[in-house]
Amino acid sequence: MTRLTRADLDALPAYVPGRNVADLARELGIAEAIKLASNEVPYGPLPGVVEAVTEAAQQMHRYPDMGVLALRDALAERLGVAADRVVTGCGSVALAEILVKATCLPGDEVLYAWRSFEAYPIVAAGAGATSVRVPNTPGHAHDLTAMAAAITDRTRLIFVCNPNNPTGTALRRPELDRFLAAVPSDVLVVLDEAYRELVTDPAVPDGLETYGDRANVVVLRTMSKAWGLAGMRMGYLVAQPEVAAVVRKVLTPFSTSLVAQAAALAALRQEAEVVRRCALVTAERQRVTEALRKLPVEVPESQANFVWLPIGDRTATFAAACEARGVIVRGFHPDGVRVTIGTPEENDAFLAAAEAALSA
Ligand code: PMP
Repeated sequence: MTRLTRADLDALPAYVPGRNVADLARELGIAEAIKLASNEVPYGPLPGVVEAVTEAAQQMHRYPDMGVLALRDALAERLGVAADRVVTGCGSVALAEILVKATCLPGDEVLYAWRSFEAYPIVAAGAGATSVRVPNTPGHAHDLTAMAAAITDRTRLIFVCNPNNPTGTALRRPELDRFLAAVPSDVLVVLDEAYRELVTDPAVPDGLETYGDRANVVVLRTMSKAWGLAGMRMGYLVAQPEVAAVVRKVLTPFSTSLVAQAAALAALRQEAEVVRRCALVTAERQRVTEALRKLPVEVPESQANFVWLPIGDRTATFAAACEARGVIVRGFHPDGVRVTIGTPEENDAFLAAAEAALSA
């Protein structure tokens, strides 16, 4: 057959989303299954957001504001940066993809820790770039020393995921300082802070406050998690104006939809509620971590809204056993299982499933 697509993409693993809840409930013949697989915050849309989206939807026959002016202004004000440094996109994953596009020619290298966010290999391969993966430390954290040593003349972009998905581990100030000092000035470092709002350890620096002024640092954030807008697809980055301008050039036109802009603007007015919800999640994170450790199972300290169970070749059977009990978790075979922190009731259901799965 005539080949129409690139041969190098044949072996690329596809992004595997968490299993559909309705599907599992139907299969098990239960009223409702529980999904703890996609790192969503479980408390529904923030107050006022559905109304703002409904109102904006009256204009859905029109294109959205391509410059995203009102939302960029609101984000810039909240973050204390100039609006020309902010770029929004269809989820932060789309911005990760655009950043690779903006920096790499085919054959250039994108460096990241592994395991880390499963989209990094996909966005690197999409641009024809070569992935260079540096294994995490035995403690499941980024090995920044090894990452610095892996930089070559072809390295154009480095993803640093802080806190790291899926292991939950977070990098502290001294090691990040040392790492950034070792990165050549012509290599872009993307600090992916999708879970920043869930960080409770004061030793974990806010990338924007601490490193945002560096010319080769981009901070990537999302409104999918703490801000409750996963389904709206709204992520943003903060870069130096020159980098932001190039990113905007290669961004898919109109990729922050009308409703996503309205939703994000309304959500930003609910910061106090976001803080309250994050506190509920991080308290539950602590409770779930302690309960799992008592089972016993190893759980690295998490600074995000999920926990990591590095159970190796028991990954697939554990995930299947949880599903059989109506709880969807995310197995990353053959390394471990990531479990999103849900409501206290959902977490209890998971803990019961985990106990049963581990003793089976
Ligand atoms: N970065 C990290 C580390 C993530 O875990 C995720 C979501 N799983 C994203 C980026 C992308 O999020 P979104 O596209 O929904 O903004």
